[in-house]
Formats: sequence, C-alpha cells, structure tokens
Amino acid sequence: MRIARFVVNEDPLFGVVEGAAGSEEVAVIQGDPFYAGVQLTGVRHALEDVRLLAPVIPRSKVVGVGRNYADHNQEMGSETPASPLMFLKPNTSVIGPGDPIMLPSFSDQISYEAELAVVIGRICKDVPLERVDDVVFGYTCANDLTARDLQKTDDQWARAKGFDTSCPIGPWIETDLDPENLAIRGTLDGELRQDGSTSDMIWGARELVAYVSQAFTLLPGDIILTGTPAGVGMITDGQRFDVDVEGIGRLSNPARR
Ligand code: MG
Repeated sequence: MRIARFVVNEDPLFGVVEGAAGSEEVAVIQGDPFYAGVQLTGVRHALEDVRLLAPVIPRSKVVGVGRNYADHNQEMGSETPASPLMFLKPNTSVIGPGDPIMLPSFSDQISYEAELAVVIGRICKDVPLERVDDVVFGYTCANDLTARDLQKTDDQWARAKGFDTSCPIGPWIETDLDPENLAIRGTLDGELRQDGSTSDMIWGARELVAYVSQAFTLLPGDIILTGTPAGVGMITDGQRFDVDVEGIGRLSNPARR
C-alpha cells in the first residue's frame, strides 16, 4: 500500500495511492494512519489534482546513518566504521516532493545523497532483528543533503546535515516492501549519477533499525536514513535532483539559492 500525505483544498490529509503510473488516484483516509490505521472515507481524487506533501513529518527525529556503502566510502576516502555511524537531522529539515531545496548562504558545497528511508510505525526500543518488521510502517525515498565544506570544518555535523530543507522525503510511503535488494538511483538534471542497490549496504535496513533502537527510543513517524551509494556530487541553484527507489517511486526536488 502506498500512503501519501497531501493537500487538495486546505488541511493536509492522508490517502492511499492506487492505480497504474500516470492514472493514479488517491483514496482519502480518515485521520492519521500512524495512530488510527487505514480507514477510507470513500472520497477519491486524481493524483494530478492534489499536491503531495512530505508523507510524514517526524514527531521527534530523523536518524541518519553515514558511510553505509563501501563504494561511497571509497569515493570519499572514508574508513568504513566499526558500527553504524549515526547523526540526527531535525524535523524542520524535512520537505516534500517538489518542494525547493533552499541552498544555505553559509555553504558553497551542497551535495545530494539518494537514500532509502525507513519510516517507523510503533514506539520501540532495543528491537531484536527478527521483530524489526513489526515496528516498521514502511519505506520511502530520501535525499540526505549535506554541506560538504561544513562537514569538514565543523566538529559536529548538526549544521552540515541538518539545515532547513536538507531532508526531502517522498513521494509516499510503501508499506509492503522487502528493503534488502532494491535498485536505488540518483539523477541530476536527468543525468544518472548514482546507480546502486540496497543489497550493497554494509548494514541492511533491518539491521539499522535494530542498531538505532539501541541508542534511541523510536516513535511513530520517526525516520532512519540508510546511507547513500557512490556517485555523490554538488547540486547548484536551478538544478533538480531525483531519487528513485525500486518498488517505491520517484522523489524530485529543485534547488534554489
Ligand atoms: Mg547520507
């Protein structure tokens, strides 16, 4: 099931996206599916008549995981860490499909990073690997935008990874997906730059949920970013970056200075 959040008139609504590419419809859900489950209202809209929003705004946090693909570590000259390298992005960094990435004035080197994102569905802590699927709501696409210059000069990555608009997610959450072997692609202005597979992760998506939940209590709507494959590079004013994850869809955002 594909769960989207959108506006059609005024207040944001959740819905189930149904139908084939190009002729999708959104079946409106009563209330918030993270708490009330999926109960349809009977109202439907053509997907093209709604404006998609970030499919969730995390109540508490986005947990990023860095250096989780060997080929990306090689291109960056980074060591592969002994355990998953975690950082936080605030929920104010989250934007939705089509929203502009506002390139901050304090950096000249904003890089795109195409990623698979895990969306948590239940409050949880110390989740054993075999119980991870019970706490996952679904998966979406993400772009973990990073100020490379500040990542080098700031001791902590708070600003480099957490600036406003640095976490586009969407276009919706796919709830029925095995995350372990999915094609993941990043495209800059139509040119393929990142072409990987989630099977190349050092720690798989489920393992990351287990690891991250040892450090942080996870709440419904929290997001875990699972790292990016090789091919990262800078995005500048006027360019557009697309993240495609097999089985989910495409997240596309323009960048503005
Ligand atoms: Mg990343």
